Amino acid sequence: MALYLDNAATTKIHKKVLDAMIESLDFYGNSEAKYYEVAEKAKLNILESRNSISKLVGCDAENVIFTSGATESNNLIIKGLAEANPEKKKIIISDLEHSSVLEPCKYLEQRGYEIVKIKVDRRGLIDLNELNKVIDNKTLMVSVIWVNNEIGTIQDMKSIDNICLKHNVFLHSDATQAVGKIAINLSQFKALKSITFSSHKIYGPKGIGSLILKKDDNGLKVKLTPLFHGGEQENGYRAGTLSNELIVGFGVACEMLIDDVDHSNKILLALEKKLISKLQSKFADGMIINNDWDCRVPGLLNVQFVGYNNSILLKNVSSIFAASTGSSCSVSKPSHVLKAIGLDEKSISYSVRLSLSKYTKIEDLEILEKL
Ligand code: PMP
Repeated sequence: MALYLDNAATTKIHKKVLDAMIESLDFYGNSEAKYYEVAEKAKLNILESRNSISKLVGCDAENVIFTSGATESNNLIIKGLAEANPEKKKIIISDLEHSSVLEPCKYLEQRGYEIVKIKVDRRGLIDLNELNKVIDNKTLMVSVIWVNNEIGTIQDMKSIDNICLKHNVFLHSDATQAVGKIAINLSQFKALKSITFSSHKIYGPKGIGSLILKKDDNGLKVKLTPLFHGGEQENGYRAGTLSNELIVGFGVACEMLIDDVDHSNKILLALEKKLISKLQSKFADGMIINNDWDCRVPGLLNVQFVGYNNSILLKNVSSIFAASTGSSCSVSKPSHVLKAIGLDEKSISYSVRLSLSKYTKIEDLEILEKL
């Protein structure tokens, strides 16, 4: 089988996660129901998952809102906040956002909102001076992707938090690629009130994720218009019966990541080193790494194979390794992320994203000898 190098798109579910999910299917009761055992067990399962998730990111268990994933969560926070606070019509985002942030912003732009995009430098870091200049009392929210999904750049969230705090502006971050890769403790941030992420990027099941939404500075519930209208689940933020088994899987996946960042990054760095050396032995100087080494997560490489069209190359090597040209959510367009960090069209057309799993075995990389 080909070496799987598309873990930034999705990961293989862990056996421990799968086993817990299968066991949870026995507790089929509706977790909102009262008085009977299968519902009580489902309720307990969900509570345990909330506790694991909140422990992983440093928030209260009641801040966890279950959704179908980061796409829904980003839509919920952006459109929900806009609709509930119509007096503020300016949203600031970075030039590197995922389509699940860009598209809701575009939707709002078509309805009269001003969307300001902050430029990034060659490393992919946003210009903090520019953020300081454009943020004002008309700003509804700032949304900055914590770790980029194509180049792995980690933003300086503490400085962004300070700027937003100074202006009393709500800060949101898409943390889909950050969770499990960097230590996150939301209790250390003030303006950062919400983050989003998906379970399937961290060895959990697809179709489940979370919007973490802290209380406002007065300890009150943040006003947010839900995407779905219906039941009272998830504190009124997200109607619909909860999926016990998906939530259990998500919870176990998070539990396994608690205090594991250093250990897992050590493994990813070793794998990455070997991956680079294997590729360099084949492509030598015909390989350019687009990532910045100093402010990125390990295990996510963005590489130009000079002279090779990325789509054709990936098709031709698909029996040896499986990877993507960039985000799987925007496959039809050249990468806006690589463009934002200053790459020209040609360099973008040579670029491939290679993303490792901490469960990849180092000996599995030997298949690259076949290149
Ligand atoms: N944000 C980022 C940074 C992502 O990488 C992804 C997944 N490609 C998403 C949001 C959307 O996640 P999902 O498809 O699970 O909703």
